[in-house]
Amino acid sequence: MKTYIFDPISDQALEYAQKNLDIVTWDSDKIRSYAEAEAVIVRTFKMSPEIIDQMPKLKIIAKHGVGVDNIDIPYAKNKNIVVTNTPEANMNSVAELAIGLVFSCVRKITQSHLAALDGLEKNSPMYLSGYELAGKTLGLIGLGKIGMSVGKKLRDAFAVNVIVYDPFTAAEQCSSLGFVKVATLEELCRTSDIISVSVPLTEKTKNMISAQELSWMKETAVLVNTSRGGIVSEDDLYEALKSNKLFGAALDVFVEEPIKIDHPLLTCDNFIATPHNGANTADALIRMGIGAVDEIVRVKNGDEAHSRL
Ligand code: NAD
Repeated sequence: MKTYIFDPISDQALEYAQKNLDIVTWDSDKIRSYAEAEAVIVRTFKMSPEIIDQMPKLKIIAKHGVGVDNIDIPYAKNKNIVVTNTPEANMNSVAELAIGLVFSCVRKITQSHLAALDGLEKNSPMYLSGYELAGKTLGLIGLGKIGMSVGKKLRDAFAVNVIVYDPFTAAEQCSSLGFVKVATLEELCRTSDIISVSVPLTEKTKNMISAQELSWMKETAVLVNTSRGGIVSEDDLYEALKSNKLFGAALDVFVEEPIKIDHPLLTCDNFIATPHNGANTADALIRMGIGAVDEIVRVKNGDEAHSRL
């Protein structure tokens, strides 16, 4: 099956694709003319109606990763094109990064590193002082695969209490994990010491953390978003951090990626940016690449795709 791979994938996944499919890779000149594509693998490449229309033979769009906001799914489905993703492949990597960012914020690890590089002469009592996690309240916005993994790991390893805001998750599911479901985003924001956001980008979640929600948060709270840019308002977060209305924040995802060097958030010393690194581990890259190829092989063999959206 003629498969166009628009974004780089791991060597192991590429080798696997070469064995099983007829591939055109991101670095080939052929990738610029789409007419022969029967299958595509995309990471961030935008599958808009205009691009889809240039692929009359297309049978499957296989997303390498989870978030499918770069694919016009209704348009593809209307044309009987199967759309798949790799829902389980990167959740552990993203969860581990979210936890790393929590620690970077509460213990000011990045700030401490920069201070050390700068020749720190005196670590006066309050300077670079952070806080422990034990006994604190972790608020999860979204209890899907990543949110659940963050919650379980921090609960088991660091004895945090976990509360959840997710209108689509039953209270019983939360309590079976030892978590408590709260009814409103306001309650979550007011109660949490650490807030981790793991929701998809939709019309409803766009700017769901803006000035109002930030104003509900404790001044000692930290906010981490590893889901998608635009869910946390960057302008409002800047205002909150600049005026120390929040202890710290870390974003892995931005409205415009990669983040520009003159972005106002980068002037805040209580802010940490990572360049959409959530799934960027060797382990997850292999799983995502092989998972995407497997879905195409299934469609090629006339089998049902496993993660059809
Ligand atoms: P998931 O689909 O398993 O879970 C999403 C959860 O969000 C669900 O439980 C859903 O009920 C909840 N939700 C939806 N709308 C909500 C709302 N308005 N308020 C509260 N909760 C809401 O997804 P996941 O695997 O946990 O991934 C979450 C997101 O993380 C993905 O959509 C993707 O955009 C992002 N992601 C980022 C990276 C990265 O590299 N940083 C990697 C993978 C995924």
